[in-house]
Amino acid sequence: MKFVVQVRLFPTPAQEAALADTLRLCNEAANVVSRIAWEINTFRNYDLRRHTYSALKEMGLSAQPAQHVIKKVADAYTTVRAQVKAKLREALMRPIGFRCDAAQPFDDRCLSWQIPARTVSLWTTHGRTKGIRFGCSDEQARLLAAYRRGESDLVHRDGLWLLIATCDAPDTDVTDPDAFIGVDLGIANIATTSDGVKHAGKALNAVRHRNRQLRRKLQAKRTKSAKRLLKRRRRAEARFARDINHRISKSIVTEAARTGRGIALEDLSGIRERVRLRKPQRVTLHSWSFHQLGSFIAYKAARAGVALVRVDPAYTSQECSACGHVDKRNRPDQETFVCMSCGFAEHADVNAARNIAMRGVAGWAAVMQPNAA
Ligand SMILES: [Zn+2]
Repeated sequence: MKFVVQVRLFPTPAQEAALADTLRLCNEAANVVSRIAWEINTFRNYDLRRHTYSALKEMGLSAQPAQHVIKKVADAYTTVRAQVKAKLREALMRPIGFRCDAAQPFDDRCLSWQIPARTVSLWTTHGRTKGIRFGCSDEQARLLAAYRRGESDLVHRDGLWLLIATCDAPDTDVTDPDAFIGVDLGIANIATTSDGVKHAGKALNAVRHRNRQLRRKLQAKRTKSAKRLLKRRRRAEARFARDINHRISKSIVTEAARTGRGIALEDLSGIRERVRLRKPQRVTLHSWSFHQLGSFIAYKAARAGVALVRVDPAYTSQECSACGHVDKRNRPDQETFVCMSCGFAEHADVNAARNIAMRGVAGWAAVMQPNAA
């Protein structure tokens, strides 16, 4: 199973200068390669190497970085050519351009990790730069030490230096669960479990609300600086949401693993429609975030050997988890569930999560049937 671990670097001013010069030179080199590729109509990695390698050496790139630059360009053309086939023909009317701070891959010969010391050393145009500090959690450090394989991307984004490391862990055998934790996704509560644990969306919703207000105010201006500010805010919001999704998914998977249960999650393919019914303007804001949470739960569950089932979420909010009676009136408002038939009362999200948990049991039984297709 492949995943990435992203760490933030804390370079000294001298190290930062080395990183910045390196990214700039690598991307200048990428643009040189891209123009040559374009002129001679040659886009494959090995063919390009023959035509561009010496030019890159002359620019001051050593062997490994030069090869990575060429491969980066070749990969970019492969991606765009795939899009061209789809429809964006005009995308290839000129060479692909690389921003001076575009991401650059480093392999183990150009980058080494000292995980216990929380430092990296890497090739830069200023020579080998050692002892660049990075920050990460203990869990990330454990994952890096155990599973990091191959290349890491150096990225400079919103003034932050980041390393995105590729990790590859062997798949763990999934434990046959005794029961399921159901997870209901929502807006007031991002995730609610059938155990009654609620992960509130208050902080995230506040950030989103502030950004929406700001967007409204700045959209009228249409200046470059306003656009830049908005972009920065959006990215900060995305980072915040990502961080929250990591914490929620970890908490759910840890609890499932601890209690020998599987996880039942609503099938997210219908989430747009479902959320639209609640609040139209929030659809796009939230659907990517739900999908991200779903994928975080999925890969953390796979890593821990926890069974995961996706269930049909239809009527989970209207169905009574005690007697099965389905009625719109069972849910008079956002928070309340009271069954019209048996009188069972529970927080609406917890009731929905309990339904999802029960559907998980049924879904798992179907998956485990020996002669299932
Ligand atoms: Zn009932």
